[in-house]
Amino acid sequence: MNTLFELSEKLKKREISSLELTKAYIGRIDEKNPLLNAVVHKTYDKALALAERADKRLAEGNAPLLCGIPVLLKDNICSEGDLTTCCSKMLSGYRPPYDATAWKRLEEQGMVLLGKTNMDEFAFGSTSETSCYGAPKNPVDPSFITGGSSGGSAAAVSAGFAPVALGSDTGGSVRQPASFCGVVGLKPTYGAVSRYGLIAYASSFDQIGVFAGSVKEAGVLFGAIRGTDSHDMTTCAGFYSAGKRQDGELSAASAGRRLKLAIVRELSDGIDEDVKNTLERARAYFSGTGAEIAEVSIPSLVSALPAYYIIACAEASSNLGRYDGVRYGHRAEGAASFEELAVKSRNEGFGDEVKRRIMLGTYVLSGGYYDAWYRKACEVRETVARGFLKTFEKYDVILAPTSPFIVPRFGEKRGAADLYRADMCTAPANLSGLPAISVPSGTDRNGMPIGLQIIGNRFDEETVLFAAEKLEQGLKPQHDTWGGYAC
Ligand code: GLN
Repeated sequence: MNTLFELSEKLKKREISSLELTKAYIGRIDEKNPLLNAVVHKTYDKALALAERADKRLAEGNAPLLCGIPVLLKDNICSEGDLTTCCSKMLSGYRPPYDATAWKRLEEQGMVLLGKTNMDEFAFGSTSETSCYGAPKNPVDPSFITGGSSGGSAAAVSAGFAPVALGSDTGGSVRQPASFCGVVGLKPTYGAVSRYGLIAYASSFDQIGVFAGSVKEAGVLFGAIRGTDSHDMTTCAGFYSAGKRQDGELSAASAGRRLKLAIVRELSDGIDEDVKNTLERARAYFSGTGAEIAEVSIPSLVSALPAYYIIACAEASSNLGRYDGVRYGHRAEGAASFEELAVKSRNEGFGDEVKRRIMLGTYVLSGGYYDAWYRKACEVRETVARGFLKTFEKYDVILAPTSPFIVPRFGEKRGAADLYRADMCTAPANLSGLPAISVPSGTDRNGMPIGLQIIGNRFDEETVLFAAEKLEQGLKPQHDTWGGYAC
């Protein structure tokens, strides 16, 4: 498969047109998607129109790098007039009247939208199995899950349905499926990318992230979507200095530096043997490159996962209050009062996991329990953030597993506790608003991909990408993804 850079070269030299490229990707999706179920809504008419527009721009010369390149969006990222349903019956038929800022920025660069990808309902989950359209399948071996919640985007990039895709990461939903499908997944710093037009799960954690076949490509896409936005007051220009990397290119300052990495005990305790071995290989590799690497402890991390689930469910229960059968999507028949309409619509429209989260969230926010649960979780959140900051006073980045366990087959890992544990290594970065990336780093006993994570300090994507690229150079395995990316 071609990288973004190779495709862009070909487009610029007019060896291929964006229309031809778009049709080639459409052909690939139509051929393979019936088995993989990675794409749930196709926007082919829009894609062909955008491709024609891109070709005109390319013919004029001076088109941006991303002009004419196809992309897919997770089904919770709005694009004007296109189905965007969070893979929930509750939003069936919903076509937003506006574009998410992240997509708008890509469209301005000339990118071509092919469709929306499969996900856990409202992004609650780690397997993508709660989608109302059925689960996507892992392109490396379809008897394995893709992970989630952005499983469709991860599978799509892995299978070569698009060179890059966007997802969202509230507790790990970009990094974990990227790890399971053998691609790169970057969750930026909270506030680096506008959430405008991203359908909310837990607003103080949600970030749009990117999937790509390589770290460099992920860096380019991140550079295209990041930045302040008057529609999202949490966005921040950050501390990206002029010389800092914004576009996938290493700055001179990074290129020659000696990295200092920390391995955090609490993020690598109790993980599967195969994941542990991959982490050990990465440790040895980094030592061999002359980097400084040491084990540290952030004791508060043992409470990070419960704190994450308390706060995430609290925010979700409040965010999902808007689905009342009046304003959006599914509306129950035959209700005699507003209350009955809301109750029936919500009961029919939401799946079991969504209901579970709303009940948990309402419980931890309710009078009498607020102090015991919600407030305490917020205190843990502060302590965890301080622990990370202290670590970054001495170290550039943290090296950690992405998932504590190897890719499950369909039917394995069913209990709620097992599923919630999936976020053990990823949710801490969301609790603290830190940038983190998952990079393919090894293969498990079943031949399935294992990703490792690089976590960095706030707004220091430059160092995260730099370290990730080193990891990629050292450990990248080759997976046969169905004639997809790795080939
Ligand atoms: N698995 C986590 C959850 O269910 C993370 C999901 C996400 O990042 N959207 O909350």
